[in-house]
Amino acid sequence: MANGNRSQNVAAARWSADGSELGRSDLTAPGADVFGSKVFGPTVLKQRLPKQVHKKLLRTLENGEALDPTLADAVATAMRDWAMENGCTHYTHWFQPLTGSTAEKHDSFYGPAGDGTAIAEFSGKELIQGEPDASSFPTGGLRATFEARGYTAWDPTSPAFILDNPNGALLCIPTAFASWKGEALDTKIPLLRSMDALSRSAVAALKLIGDLETQRVFSTVGPEQEYFLIDEQYYFERPDLVNTGRTLFGAKPPKGHELDDHYFGSIPERVLACMMETELELAKLGVPIKTRHNEVAPAQYEVAPIFESSNVGADHQQLTMQVLQNVARRYGLVCLIHEKPFAGVNGSGKHNNWSVGTDGGENLLNPGATPHDNLQFLFFCTAVIQAVNKHQGLLRATVASVGQDHRLGANEAPPAIISIFLGGELERVFDAIAKGKTTRSKPGSFLGLGSDVLPPLPLDGGDRNRTSPFAFTGNKFEFRAPGSSQSISFVNTVLNTIVAEAIDDLSAKLKKSLGSRRSIEAALMPVLKNSVKENEAILFGGDGYSEAWHKEAEKRGLKNMRTTPDALPEMIAPATVKVFAKYKVLNKVELQSRFEVAAEQYVTKLNIEGETAANMARTLILPAATRHLAELRAAEVPALIEETAVLVDELVSAIRALDKANEGHPSRGGVINHAKYMRDKVIPAMDATREVADKLEGIVADSLWPLPKYQEMLFIK
Ligand code: ADP
Ligand code: MG
Repeated sequence: MANGNRSQNVAAARWSADGSELGRSDLTAPGADVFGSKVFGPTVLKQRLPKQVHKKLLRTLENGEALDPTLADAVATAMRDWAMENGCTHYTHWFQPLTGSTAEKHDSFYGPAGDGTAIAEFSGKELIQGEPDASSFPTGGLRATFEARGYTAWDPTSPAFILDNPNGALLCIPTAFASWKGEALDTKIPLLRSMDALSRSAVAALKLIGDLETQRVFSTVGPEQEYFLIDEQYYFERPDLVNTGRTLFGAKPPKGHELDDHYFGSIPERVLACMMETELELAKLGVPIKTRHNEVAPAQYEVAPIFESSNVGADHQQLTMQVLQNVARRYGLVCLIHEKPFAGVNGSGKHNNWSVGTDGGENLLNPGATPHDNLQFLFFCTAVIQAVNKHQGLLRATVASVGQDHRLGANEAPPAIISIFLGGELERVFDAIAKGKTTRSKPGSFLGLGSDVLPPLPLDGGDRNRTSPFAFTGNKFEFRAPGSSQSISFVNTVLNTIVAEAIDDLSAKLKKSLGSRRSIEAALMPVLKNSVKENEAILFGGDGYSEAWHKEAEKRGLKNMRTTPDALPEMIAPATVKVFAKYKVLNKVELQSRFEVAAEQYVTKLNIEGETAANMARTLILPAATRHLAELRAAEVPALIEETAVLVDELVSAIRALDKANEGHPSRGGVINHAKYMRDKVIPAMDATREVADKLEGIVADSLWPLPKYQEMLFIK
C-alpha cells in the first residue's frame, strides 16, 4: 500500500543506477566518441558497398528514383552484415502510424536452411517493403477490415539504426506506412511530400530573386523537448499516472515554483546522471543532442538537439522520447512526457524551431548582412507571415489534443490564439514595409531595396517573447504551441505545405510586378507591402497571456479555439483541403481520416481518464475518507466529524455523477459531437470529483491517504 508513512520517500531519495554503482567512463577519451555508432549512415554504407554499387545508389537517391532490385539486394546484404556484427538477430520496419507513436514488428534474420539448421537471410525485397497488418492501426475509416493489408516502404533518406536491449539488438529501418491502395496511414509520407512541395516552390522563388544555383531546399527542425522525471515508486503507486500519464487527483503543494529556484538551477545528481546516459544512447543513434537544463516547474527538464532536416529530425524526435523513457527506468525514475502531469504546475511543451535551408547550406530565414540575403529573407519571412495568418486555424489544430487542452490558453503556455512575434527591430522593418514608408530609416541603410525606408536587419533576434506561440528567434521561427508528447511530423507537414503555397503566391505576384519594372528590388517591395498589410493582424509583440490580448485578438478577427473539439474541424476546412490537394500532400480522404483519428483519440483518452478517475475515487479515496471519518467518530471529535462527513457525502455524489457521465456517451451525431460530450460532460464531472478529493487530501490522516502527494513526487529527487 502507498504511503502510510514517509519511509517510501527515504527509499526514493536513496537511489543507485540500475541498483548498482555508476560507471565512470571518460566520454572525452579518444575512442569514446560513440556518435552514430549504431547508425547505418553514409560512412558505413560507403565502407561496405562495392564502389560501383555505392555510386549508383547515391545517384538514385539524389535523383529520387526507384531503387533497382540488384541495388536493393546489395544494400540489404551490407545492412544485414553490419547489423549482425552489432548483435542484431531481428529487424523491423520502423514506422509512425497515426497514433503519434512508433510501431515495430520484429522479424528474425534467420530462416530454415532446409537441412534442419537456419541461415541468415535478408533480401532487397525485405528491405524495401514490408506488409504489416494494417487493421490494428487507426485509419479513421480509410480502410475497412477486409482490406487490412498495409505496406511499409523503406525511407532511404533516414538512416537505419540499432536499438540495443540487454538480451539482443534490433535493426530498425525507418519506413513509410500506406494502405494497399497507397493512401498514407502514417506521419512520414505527408511530411516527405510536404518537403518536396516546399523545395519546389522555394527553388522557383529563389530563381526569380536571382539565385540560379540552389537545386533543393530543405525544411529544418530543432525540437526542444520538455519532460518531468519522478521517482518510479510514486509513479507505480498512482493508477492515474500509469493509465493516463497525468495525475487526476492531487492538491497543490505548499511549495511550487514561486521561488524560481528550479529554472536553470543546478541539476540534481541522479537526474544529471540519467540525462548523461540518455544523451549517450541518443548519440549512438546519431541524434545530435546539444542542450539540457532544468525547466520552470520542479522536477521538469528540457533537452534539445542541433537542428536537422524535418524528416530525420522528426524520426529523431520520436527516438528522443523513447530513449528518455527507457533510460529513466535505469535510474529508478519515470519520464513523464504528458502535457500536464500536475495540475497547477507548469506543463510541458515541445518548441518546434523551424527554418528553411538550401542545399548550399544557406538559411533562408537568416536576415544576413548583405542586400541579397536581405531580399531573400524578407521574401521568405513575408511568406511565413502570410501562411500562418491564412492557416492560423489549421496550425491551432495541429497542436490540439486532450493533454494540450490543459495547457494552451492557460497562463503559462502560448494562448490558443495563433499570432506571430517578430521582435522589436523586425517589427519596425515590417511596419515600414506595410506603410510603404518610415521615419525611422537610418541614413546609408545598406538594404538597397529600391527604397531607403529600411533599417539594417538585425543579425540576431534580439528580444524574446515567451508568451508568443510563433516567434521569430534570430534565424528561425519557433512554434511554441506543440505539446510535449506529440509527434512533430504533422506540425511540420503543415508548415511546409502552407509556406509553399504562400511562396508560390508571392512568386506569381512578383513575376507580374517584374513585368512592369526594372529591378527585382523595385518589383518586390509593393508585393511584400500588400502581403504584410493584408496579414498584419497576425503580428503581435505584446503579452500573449493577458486578457487584453484576448479582446484585441477578437477585434482583429483572429481565431481563438479554446479546446480540441473546436480546433480539429480546421483539419478538413475548405482552405486546408485546397492547399493539401494543390501540393499533393494529403488528399481529402486522407485528411478526413486524420481528422477522425485525432477526434477518436481525444474521446478515447478522455474516456480512460474518466473511468480511471471514477475508479480511483471509489476504491482509493473514498475508503480513506470513510476510515478517517470512523476514526474521528471513535475519537469523538465533533468539530471535525461534521466537516469530514459533508465532504464524504459530496464525494459520493460526485462519483455517482461521474459514473453517469462515463456511461452516457452519445451513440450518434458523429465524432466531434462525441468529443464535445466528453468535453462538456465528462471533464466537468472529473473536475468536480477532483475538487472534493483534493479537499479531503488536506484533512484525511496522512497515514491513511492512499496516493503519493505532489510535494513528494515533485520534490524528492
Ligand atoms: P533557445 O534559446 O530558444 O533555447 P537555441 O538557439 O538553443 O534557442 O535553439 C533552440 C533550437 O533551435 C535548437 O534545437 C536548435 O538546433 C534549433 N535551431 C537553430 N537553428 C535552426 C534552424 N535553422 N532550423 C531549425 N532549427 C534551428
Ligand atoms: Mg527556445
